[in-house]
Amino acid sequence: MRKLVGLVGWRGMVGSVLMDRMTQEQDFDLIEPLFFSTSNAGGAAPAQAKNETRLQNAFNIEALKRCDIIITAQGGDYTSEVFPKLRQSGWKGHWIDAASTLRMQDDAVIILDPVNLPVIQKALIQGGHNWVGGNCTVSCMLMGVGALFKAGLVEWMSTQTYQAASGGGAQHMRELLTQYGTLYAEVKTLLDDPKSAILEIDRLVIAKQRSLQGQEIEHFGVPLGGSLIPWIDKDLGLDKQREEAGWGMSREEWKGMAETNKILGQGPGFGTEAIPVDGICVRVGAMRCHSQALTLKLKKDVPVADLESMIAADNPWVKLVPNTREATVQDLTPVATTGTLRIPVGRIRKMAMGPQYISAFTVGDQLLWGAAEPLRRMLRILLGT
Ligand code: NAP
Repeated sequence: MRKLVGLVGWRGMVGSVLMDRMTQEQDFDLIEPLFFSTSNAGGAAPAQAKNETRLQNAFNIEALKRCDIIITAQGGDYTSEVFPKLRQSGWKGHWIDAASTLRMQDDAVIILDPVNLPVIQKALIQGGHNWVGGNCTVSCMLMGVGALFKAGLVEWMSTQTYQAASGGGAQHMRELLTQYGTLYAEVKTLLDDPKSAILEIDRLVIAKQRSLQGQEIEHFGVPLGGSLIPWIDKDLGLDKQREEAGWGMSREEWKGMAETNKILGQGPGFGTEAIPVDGICVRVGAMRCHSQALTLKLKKDVPVADLESMIAADNPWVKLVPNTREATVQDLTPVATTGTLRIPVGRIRKMAMGPQYISAFTVGDQLLWGAAEPLRRMLRILLGT
C-alpha cells in the first residue's frame, strides 16, 4: 500500500518549488498525498491530490497522525507549535522539515544526501525519524565544494555570501522589484535623454533611496534595490553562544560552522574537532540564488588541477567553471543558475597568502538544493526508491 504523505506549506515559496520538483520527478506516483493548510482547511487540494481532495487543517493533530510521513515547508513557527504536540500524541512517523527549528537537536539529521548519505543511513538504522533541510547557503556551498571537506583537506574556511532577496520569501522579492521600479521611475526622463548629466541622475537616485519608507521597506527594513545589507537574520546577542563564537555574529553566520559540521557528521555531538567556518553574510539585490566567495586554508599544498578534478567528480550537479573571465561572467552568476539544479564552482586559484590558501566562488539556487530538493530526495530514501 502507498504511504500516506502529508504536505504542509505546499503553496509557499519553498513549497511551490517542492511541488514542481515532485511533479517533474513523478514522486506523486509513489505516494498517497494528503494536503494541509493553516489558512484554508476544507478548501480544494491541488491537482496532485488523488483520493484526498480536500485540504486538511494543518493544526489538527488527529489528521496529521494519519500520515506515515509529513513534509513541511510551512516555517519555524508552525514547527514549534505542532511538532511537539504531534510527537507527544505518540506519532511515530517521519517528519521532513524545511524550517531551522529542529536542525540542531540531537535526534534530527540535517539532510543533504549527495553530501551526507552515510550520516542519513546511519541515523535510519538507529531509528531516526526527524529529517531537516539545512540552511540554504550551507547546503549550496557543500554541494559545490563538499569534496574538499570529505577528503579531509580543509583546515578552515571563510565565506563571504551574496544572498538573494528570495531567501526571505515571496514578499521580499516583491519589495526588491518595487524598489527598482521606483528608482527607475524617478530618473526615467533623464535616462531617456542621452545628454543628461549622470551626476544629476545619481543625486536623484540616492535621494529617492534615502526617502523610501513605510511599506516600501517593510520587509528588509532599509532599501535593498541599488544597495546591500551586510546582516542577515538575528543578532545572536549577549548569550553564551555569542561569547563562544565571538562578538557581533549574526545567526546566519553562526549557522555556517554549526551546520557544515553537523551535515558532515563531525564536531560536537560526534566526538571530533569541528572545522572552523566563518565569514560575513550579505543580502544583495539578486532575485534568486545565493552566491559565496570562499577562502579555504588546506591542510597541505594540493595542485589546483587536482582540486578541480575532485570538485568536478563529487556529484552530478556540480559544474566546474574554468577560471577565465569569459566562462566566469557567463556561467558563474545567479542569472545563469536560477531554476537549475546546477552548482557552478569557479574562480579556483592559489592565493597570495601561500600555496595552502585557495579561493573559490560558487552559486546555487537556494530554493532547489538549498530547500526543496533535499526534502523530496529524503522522501525517496524513506520510500526506498
Ligand atoms: P512563505 O513563502 O512565506 O510560505 C509559508 C506559508 O505562508 C505558506 O505555506 C502559506 O501557508 C502561507 N501564505 C500566506 N500567504 C501566502 C501567499 N500569498 N502565497 C503563498 N503562501 C502564503 O515561506 P518560504 O520562503 O517558502 O519558507 C518556508 C520555510 O522554508 C521557512 O522555515 C524558511 O526558513 C525555510 N526556507 C526558506 C528558503 C528560501 O529561500 N525562501 C530556503 C530554505 C529554507 P498556508 O497555505 O497554510 O496559508
